[in-house]
Amino acid sequence: MKGMLKGKMMKKLKPIKPIGYLKETRVLQVNAADGFIETFIRKPILKAQTPEVMLCKEVEQEKVKDCSFVVNQEPDVIDVNDLMRDLEEEEEEDMEVDDDKENVGPVVKARVDLFGVKDKESKGSNSNQSPLSEIDNSSFRRPDLNSGSLFDPNLLAAFEEAVKEHMRVSEEERRARIEKENLERMREEAERSFEDQEEEPPLKARRIEEDDDIDPILGFPEMCPPGGSGSVILYTTSLRGIRKTFEDCNSIRFLLESFRVLYFERDVSMHMEFKEELWKVLDGRVNPPRLFIKGRYIGGAGEVLALHEQGRFRVLFEGIPIDIFIGSPCEGCAGFRFVLCSHCNGSHKVVAENGLSSTCQDCNENGLIICPLCC
Ligand SMILES: [Zn+2]
Ligand SMILES: [Zn+2]
Repeated sequence: MKGMLKGKMMKKLKPIKPIGYLKETRVLQVNAADGFIETFIRKPILKAQTPEVMLCKEVEQEKVKDCSFVVNQEPDVIDVNDLMRDLEEEEEEDMEVDDDKENVGPVVKARVDLFGVKDKESKGSNSNQSPLSEIDNSSFRRPDLNSGSLFDPNLLAAFEEAVKEHMRVSEEERRARIEKENLERMREEAERSFEDQEEEPPLKARRIEEDDDIDPILGFPEMCPPGGSGSVILYTTSLRGIRKTFEDCNSIRFLLESFRVLYFERDVSMHMEFKEELWKVLDGRVNPPRLFIKGRYIGGAGEVLALHEQGRFRVLFEGIPIDIFIGSPCEGCAGFRFVLCSHCNGSHKVVAENGLSSTCQDCNENGLIICPLCC
């Protein structure tokens, strides 16, 4: 019986390793000074040790509990020598037993039993401390021991869903951010190249501009294409037959767009009338591109690019409105500058009631009409 009891108590005592470094004097002091050795439970000496040590620790650390708390227990006399001997025995045994064995429960239980209170520290670490009736176990699920996981499968599924959703959202955000960054980088590059080219004309150009009170446009010959007296008109071609011509058109168009000035492009390959008026104005069979500003002939690609390099190009646009719609194509022609003739559906031919066909009078040779919105 005693051995059984002792074994039971040993179990309880195992977690109390610090007992090993408790000094003999301290134990004795406690016994003598507090006088509660007499008050402890009789038979199991070790039982007396447990609460005693616990109590002392608690008193030292928390200075809350009074050791005399246990006074109401059955008083007994404990032989100090016995106590010490058992202590040593216990230490030896402790060395033999697996030290790493987790055995927190009994300690907490001992504490709770002793003080009759649940302290915060021990709460949750051992369910023994609270009566079962106090635990709300209605929401607990009995774990299925055959299952691969002890978690609620519904909970796991919900968690997986949440993780997937989170990954999907963050992936979308990442993609959107990359796209946005790319767009911004492109815009920055475009603006930088625009500034490099135009925002700061060479010093020489600025000096010319400042020194010259006369409008620099007056230095160019007066050759006004139809409707071009107060605007910018660029004759171009969209035919790629002659590569140089096509590329020259593109470079002047790019310059004008980078200035954001309002200009009208007349594609001679789309509209013979444009070619004819160009040849007439310049008095010769010239090739595009040809640029006119405010009724004056600036030149072809070579002249324009040279002016631009000298910083004498931008000043020519004084008084020309900014194209607020630049970058957003015309609603009428989508930037094409022509629309299909609605009269002949682009065939440039109309069939009369008597069966005779004739040329459509509304459109050009290609069955197109110049866009009424943007040109
Ligand atoms: Zn248009
Ligand atoms: Zn037509």
